[in-house]
Amino acid sequence: MDQQSPHAEAIRARLEKYLEGKDFFFNPDEDIVDSIIKAMDKRHEKYGKDYCPCRRVTGDAEKDAAIECPCAYHLKEIEEEGFCHCRLFSKE
Ligand code: SF4
Repeated sequence: MDQQSPHAEAIRARLEKYLEGKDFFFNPDEDIVDSIIKAMDKRHEKYGKDYCPCRRVTGDAEKDAAIECPCAYHLKEIEEEGFCHCRLFSKE
């Protein structure tokens, strides 16, 4: 794992907690996990929210709430494709 900012570490800790008891996990490729978390941290710096780095931020806070990680779409994506859009979460 790269050296990460305190907020990136907080994102990781929050998502690790979220994953407890789930039937999906962080992508086993640590480089992917690091780069997604790093990109999410940049979004937090810019927007003040942990928005998905793989989706467009509209500027409409109500709409954008759906893309705060874990987003409103990930469960369906993982069920249908085995991973979320960013490939942060994976079935394996
Ligand atoms: S696609 Fe994955 S990384 Fe992006 S917000 Fe959804 S769950 Fe998080």
